[in-house]
Amino acid sequence: MKIAVLKESEPGERRVAATPETVKKFIALGASVMVETGAGEAATVSDADYVTAGASVGPRSEALKDADIILVVQGPGAAGLNGVKPGVLLVGALNPFGKRDQVDAYAAAGVEALAMEFLPRITRAQSMDILSSQANLAGYKAVLDAVAEYGRALPMMMTAAGTIPAARLFVMGVGVAGLQSIATGRRLGAIVSATDVRAATREQIQSLGAKPIFVEAVAGIEGEGAGGYATEMSDEYKKAQAELVSSHIARQDIVITTALIPGRPAPRLISDEQIATMRAGSVIVDLAVEQGGNVEGAKLGEVVVKHGVKIVGHKNVPSRLAADTSSLYARNLYNFLSAFWDGEAKTVTLPDDDEIVKGVRLTHGGKVVSERLLG
Ligand code: NAD
Repeated sequence: MKIAVLKESEPGERRVAATPETVKKFIALGASVMVETGAGEAATVSDADYVTAGASVGPRSEALKDADIILVVQGPGAAGLNGVKPGVLLVGALNPFGKRDQVDAYAAAGVEALAMEFLPRITRAQSMDILSSQANLAGYKAVLDAVAEYGRALPMMMTAAGTIPAARLFVMGVGVAGLQSIATGRRLGAIVSATDVRAATREQIQSLGAKPIFVEAVAGIEGEGAGGYATEMSDEYKKAQAELVSSHIARQDIVITTALIPGRPAPRLISDEQIATMRAGSVIVDLAVEQGGNVEGAKLGEVVVKHGVKIVGHKNVPSRLAADTSSLYARNLYNFLSAFWDGEAKTVTLPDDDEIVKGVRLTHGGKVVSERLLG
């Protein structure tokens, strides 16, 4: 099996889909690895590091020639895969809903596209879960990005010149990213509170030493809901949530929003009117900005100021910690491929009836086959 590792072409994408560590592991399985020149540079991995790990390095056309597996972070345009052999596996974060046309083009080119975002969230797949590994670090970085924009300190400081009060940090959406934002805010000394629509998060918030702020009048999502994911809430719930946010947010210095609903635009959680009640100099980081945003007025790729409040809408937050996110992402891909590695034949075998394969497989035999995409 020849594995090609591509240099990312999306502007601002600093991550890479394989590291010297995973290159060594693939070689130990019996594969050969060719890395496109400069693929790891932005994630502080040099071409020489890959060569030391046992890979060869060269231009894309050479890497793709006769490749059996292509590893990417974001899905390249089908034109960027010219010259691949039919049946090649393309493994990455292919953004199937956002780039549906590209999925059709992969099918037409005979590329077997595997979207790691569609991995089912089952125990067996945890070590392959790119959404979790990347969201975890994004939740951490969101707090650091907030702190960088905030003109004050987070912990309470008692000094000879007087006392500085602790900052109040509010996390909205307590999935993987939100939990890490809570933990990071606590480590930095903020007074942290958090909210979610899923009742199960209440205990998780408390276990991290933060205060749960929940809608009490209308029931949220009990139990595991749609596989642990949130759904669109009723109008009654949204109204109660808006009232709760209005009463809480005016006293917050930093707000991190992470709320997402799979396959749908992000829910709007903070209105311009609510921002106007916050103290000037406060900071809101909208981690959902790429899915339409939780915060009114948030702009993708920009820091905007509304009513004296900074609204941070950085693009591709995982890429802002490219060395660490690449290393976890690369391990996720290795864990996925090695789970389906046939040691004797030294190839990857993807059984049609496997739950993980059924989840991630977008195209097969020249057709789009993903149930989630075909609806
Ligand atoms: P996500 O990124 O889809 O959403 C982030 C959070 O936003 C979620 O907690 C969601 O409930 C919340 N949210 C959505 N709408 C909201 C609203 N209107 N107001 C407030 N909050 C709102 O979620 P995620 O980080 O992918 O995690 C989803 C779940 O999956 C969690 O329970 C997580 O623990 C679980 N999970 C399981 C596995 C596994 O392998 N078993 C792996 C990763 C995550």
